[in-house]
Amino acid sequence: MLDGLKNNLRDAIKKIVKSSGIDEELIKELSKNVQRALLQSDVNVRLVLEITKQIEIRSLNETPPPGLSRKDHIVKILYDELAKLLGKESDFDFKSGKQNKLIMLGIQGSGKTTVTAKLAKFLTKQGYSVGVIGADTYRPGALVQLRTMCEKSNVEVYGEPNNKNSPDIVKNGLKYFESLPLDVILIDTAGRHKEEKDLLSEMEQINKVAEPDLAILVIDGTIGQQCFNQAEAFHKTIPVGGIIITKLDSSAKGGGAIAASAATGAQIMYIGTGERIDDLEKFSPTRFVGRLLGMGDIQAVLDLAKRLENEGDDVRLKRISSGKMNMDDFFYQLEEVTKVGSLKGFLDNMPGLSGMVKDDQLDQMEGRVSKWRFIIQSMTKEEKADPDLMNSSRIKRISRGSGWPEHEVKELLKNYKNSKSMMKASKGRQMQGTLRRMGF
Ligand code: GDP
Repeated sequence: MLDGLKNNLRDAIKKIVKSSGIDEELIKELSKNVQRALLQSDVNVRLVLEITKQIEIRSLNETPPPGLSRKDHIVKILYDELAKLLGKESDFDFKSGKQNKLIMLGIQGSGKTTVTAKLAKFLTKQGYSVGVIGADTYRPGALVQLRTMCEKSNVEVYGEPNNKNSPDIVKNGLKYFESLPLDVILIDTAGRHKEEKDLLSEMEQINKVAEPDLAILVIDGTIGQQCFNQAEAFHKTIPVGGIIITKLDSSAKGGGAIAASAATGAQIMYIGTGERIDDLEKFSPTRFVGRLLGMGDIQAVLDLAKRLENEGDDVRLKRISSGKMNMDDFFYQLEEVTKVGSLKGFLDNMPGLSGMVKDDQLDQMEGRVSKWRFIIQSMTKEEKADPDLMNSSRIKRISRGSGWPEHEVKELLKNYKNSKSMMKASKGRQMQGTLRRMGF
């Protein structure tokens, strides 16, 4: 898969790993090599420049965590940034108790019909009841192909071989399925017309009739930069909510996929990796980059980095529970709260706490946390390491910097002190977990 990109990136990594020492010149060379590798794979120039600049800045300025070599740290940065370029993992968010309608968009030959059948089987295996509407009236054989592929997974396909009016077919299909207990309806559409504008206007009409919950754009992974314009044209007609890239098993360059995702702002959800019905994979940016860079090689580095991160956490927790918490630790805990999501969600899942705290109290707490984050960010490194340094002129400065009145800064310091002494008194044992997540 994506052999060119894979080889070029691996060569770039090899150079770093084999070098006797890391200097600015070598980092610039790495950045150039990654640039070349991505451009040859048809990734959009602007995105390439952005990511390689980031790799350079981070490699030059970041200090590796203790225990991780500079080389490994740079490989990790490359991995992180490439994964970031590919976006986040994203999956369907089907609502229960209704028929979730998905419309499949894409030009002829992109693999749309194949993906529709693949997806129908994939979702069926996950326990959803699926129905399919074949509304590609332009390509001869599309309906038969869809039926043949879906037959094996016992998914019913609604189609009207003698009707050329696709919005009509969609309307009839939805009516036909209406009384059936289906969770998902997939609508396969045409991918070509005499003129592009006719195709887009047909999609617009189908969109009106179907009122889909999600429009999925199917993109051929072998076509490169044209993806961008294609994706943009579809997206202007029907807002694209997810992308599926096909043919990533063949001589795909893959970069076009990234362009398509950039043009629509939608995430790549699944990838097609072959012609068989089971060749569909959930897309994971980290796994994808792992494969590109050679997961075997990079896994050891990632494991080490993770271990060190956890060790960092352990050291932090020891410091907190022994009553030596600094403002950085306090800030870290605030950050943990946001990772957990909303405080309410978190507290609702805490045995003994669910329902005990009222909604308006929770809102107050969340407001406080976001306020404190600004205040702490306005502190200097020394102040965070040793909040006892705080005096009235420092408080004034922090208040100006954060945009919050002085009494708010004082309130935060009071809470920090309370929290610290509470930890000391309880030796942090029982409360450690709870407080750690709550940021108090
Ligand atoms: P549509 O016109 O967009 O509906 O495209 P089709 O579903 O008919 O697919 C066009 C061609 O691409 C067919 O020959 C498919 O077998 C092939 N195809 C689709 N997905 C993949 C894939 O993931 N890998 C490979 N190698 N071929 C694919």
